[in-house]
Amino acid sequence: MGKALIIGAGGVASVVIHKCCQNSGVFEEICIASRTLSKCEALKKKLDGGRTKIRTAQVDASHVPELIALIERFQPDIVINVALPYQDLTIMDACLATKVDYVDTANYEPEDTAKFEYKWQWAYRDRFKEAGITALLGSGFDPGVTGVFSAYAQKHYFDEIHAIDILDANAGDHGYPFATNFNPEINIREVTAKGSYFENGRFIETEPMSIKRVYNFPQIGPKDIYLLHHEEMESLALNIKGIQKIRFWMTFSQSYLNHLQVLQNVGMTSIEPIDYEGQQIVPLQFLKAVLPDPASLGPRTKGKTNIGCIFQGVKNGKPVTYYLYNICDHQECYREVGSQAVSYTTGVPAMIGAAMVMTGKWKRPGVFNIEEFDPDPFMDALNRFGLPWHESFAPELVD
Ligand code: NDP
Repeated sequence: MGKALIIGAGGVASVVIHKCCQNSGVFEEICIASRTLSKCEALKKKLDGGRTKIRTAQVDASHVPELIALIERFQPDIVINVALPYQDLTIMDACLATKVDYVDTANYEPEDTAKFEYKWQWAYRDRFKEAGITALLGSGFDPGVTGVFSAYAQKHYFDEIHAIDILDANAGDHGYPFATNFNPEINIREVTAKGSYFENGRFIETEPMSIKRVYNFPQIGPKDIYLLHHEEMESLALNIKGIQKIRFWMTFSQSYLNHLQVLQNVGMTSIEPIDYEGQQIVPLQFLKAVLPDPASLGPRTKGKTNIGCIFQGVKNGKPVTYYLYNICDHQECYREVGSQAVSYTTGVPAMIGAAMVMTGKWKRPGVFNIEEFDPDPFMDALNRFGLPWHESFAPELVD
């Protein structure tokens, strides 16, 4: 069917590449391009010999001319951006210049301010439309599958959804006192930021980790959950009919929070550069360098993740409650693709999103969030590519 250029060679990229190779009918050829060529070569070595032809390239994705040259050389049908959110805009610029479709899993964040919002990427809408190309934003799990779940609930079970609680539980244990399951810099920027929730047409800001509940997750059991700001709330607040309230919850263990508190208190999570022996360093980037590489957690992590959404609303004038979720086992993921479940639950939807655009099911000129497309073919693909979902019409609610 076609060719995909995959940018990034980290934990998520590794899963995307495995899954593209499992879907060789769509992905006939891929090019793995990242800053460190040896990581691309290592992934190629692991997967070469199957039906999907694999190439590699070195690229600095913050440099538009380099990206354009690579796209012109490889001639992909789509670019799958699984590098870091800082590179979203340069990659979108290169896609515009070469008229190639674009998919990512996280919205743009400027490197010097830990503030992620869609405004920068939504500003590309007219230009993508005029160029006749598609940008699919946020095709990971959250954002990503959570938006697909919302579109599916809206399409099949509700006239109006009034409230969404997004619940992200990771009950995995990697055995380290402190490590993050995806890029530490991005992860710590997210969890140390102020929380927020959407209510009655506006976002209400909260102090970091100040709102806590306990939720009894299917197959995982009771866990502490904390209210966070999360990017999909911004687009769901606009795209879900009748929506009045959206909250995002994530589990954290007391040990993770204690470590984070100490690191914060001593200034190690700061993104302000400091002078160290005549050199400028960013404390959070230094911390990333000493923490375990998330890609190395795979063999050590045991337990499950459970991510999903609880919807409350009305159908034919009657109240409806509906819970859609996926459970993923860290060790099963590792056996299948050599990665833990957090990379797996992001990489599978990134491949599926790209396949939706490449096969024409979701091909529409412009810049779109995932819930703006028909969820049914994506929901079907989740079941086929390793992220089966479950549903309940009488779930426990978050108070
Ligand atoms: P990693 O840090 O493991 O990988 C990032 C990769 O991007 C590395 O290979 C890195 O190269 C490469 N990279 C960084 N900067 C550049 C650059 N300037 N040019 C080219 N390549 C570059 O991160 P993850 O795989 O854990 O995460 C990837 C993305 O997925 C992130 O954007 C993250 O926010 C997102 N994500 C989304 C989730 C969701 O559910 N939606 C959940 C989890 C993650 P090098 O090896 O040289 O450092």
